[in-house]
Amino acid sequence: MPPSRPNSRRDFLKAASLGGLAFGAAAVPALGATTRESADNAPRRQAKNVIFMVSDGMGMGTLAAAVDYLKLVHQRESHWLRMYREVPVVRSLCETHSATGLVTDSAAAASCWGIGERVQNGSLNVTPDGRKPVTILQRMKAARKRTGLVTTATATHATPAGFVTTVTKREDQREVAFQYLERGVDVVLGGGADYFGESLVAAYKKVGYTHVTTRAQLLAHRGTGPLLGLFAKKYIPMEVDRLNRPALQAVTPTLAEMTQSALAALQGSAEGFFLMVEGGRVDHAAHANDAIGAILDQIAFDDTIATVLKFVSAHPDTLLIITTDHGTGGLQVNGVGSEDFDSKLPSYNETNSTFLRLTAFNRSLEQVRLEAKDFKKPKEYQDLLVAATGLKFKPADLEKVISMKTLTEAIPKYSGVGFTSMNHTGEMVEFCAVGPGAALFPPFLRNDQVHAKLLQATGLA
Ligand SMILES: [Zn+2]
Repeated sequence: MPPSRPNSRRDFLKAASLGGLAFGAAAVPALGATTRESADNAPRRQAKNVIFMVSDGMGMGTLAAAVDYLKLVHQRESHWLRMYREVPVVRSLCETHSATGLVTDSAAAASCWGIGERVQNGSLNVTPDGRKPVTILQRMKAARKRTGLVTTATATHATPAGFVTTVTKREDQREVAFQYLERGVDVVLGGGADYFGESLVAAYKKVGYTHVTTRAQLLAHRGTGPLLGLFAKKYIPMEVDRLNRPALQAVTPTLAEMTQSALAALQGSAEGFFLMVEGGRVDHAAHANDAIGAILDQIAFDDTIATVLKFVSAHPDTLLIITTDHGTGGLQVNGVGSEDFDSKLPSYNETNSTFLRLTAFNRSLEQVRLEAKDFKKPKEYQDLLVAATGLKFKPADLEKVISMKTLTEAIPKYSGVGFTSMNHTGEMVEFCAVGPGAALFPPFLRNDQVHAKLLQATGLA
């Protein structure tokens, strides 16, 4: 069953204190003390469990936009920021470079966590000089911890793969699927069924994995044996689609539901577990410059933080990390905002249709862009665009919109959200840690330092 989410600060504190971890005012360090000094985060206390959460491609602007959206449209605080008020959290600013340069891809970023070294973009845990060090999940497995991967991307996508596998090219997702079995990952939940052939699934089942493919099967699953859940051929649908299509809701588990199931299935080892949870589609939406796509997937990630905090409050021997691998798209709420984001968005929600139309607008533009790849005739494109979006453009805007180059410039006019590109960014990102070992993470952190600190925190260094 999905957990009921505490709906007020009081409920949250109640749940937390029932669980035994002193969340709440008393646990917040006195003004002037650093959160690194909190006993809960002590470097020498050993972490039995690790939950490592990644919102893929989440620049600071995406985090801020989702927090603002929650405040303005749903009149509530984000679980992530509420944690900052109520729990002694250690925060770091994290540099995200790779061996390729200033801008990493997800494979090189996850390899930093996997082996503690920077590799070339596209490579999974193969160093520039060809070495193949042991990965973090292999280390955890060797220490008899159970291991799990949860994502809304393909289960074999670069981020989850980077914690486990050694593969020269991230595109080789079939090899990743094979290595998960070979290296004994206990729980694998996500999309990507296409990369697990029939015979591979049979091989998983042969060694005891339960194989589930629908939300109902996942929620009905009990027990702590190995679990393989593949809920889409490629990616699990974006949250904006799931929310607007009841048929998708019936078959697709949310990130929070998958995480809850993984936490239940990973019980049973006295040595604990290591679980990676990825919001995999924030990055995809940002690549497409789809503002609402990124914001709603970020909110689904935020909901998952609530699920995880509930577990952590009941299991204080858990180290929780929440971060991202890199920014994508340079998503930002731009301008003064009074005309756009902070006044229009709530009214979009109120009527429910204008905002949905905006959603359709953003997504349809992406679709139109794909359909119009070989586009030659402006009139046809213009008709297609108007039909797809249902929007009446001012002549000047339409002129801009029909130029492929300025497509992304048109979007901010209707949402207040702008982008700097359709690529990853080299920005520094948010990194936070809670629980035993959290104090090991310094205020400024390189992505390739994280691996060693995880080993230290779990007593495996
Ligand atoms: Zn990306």
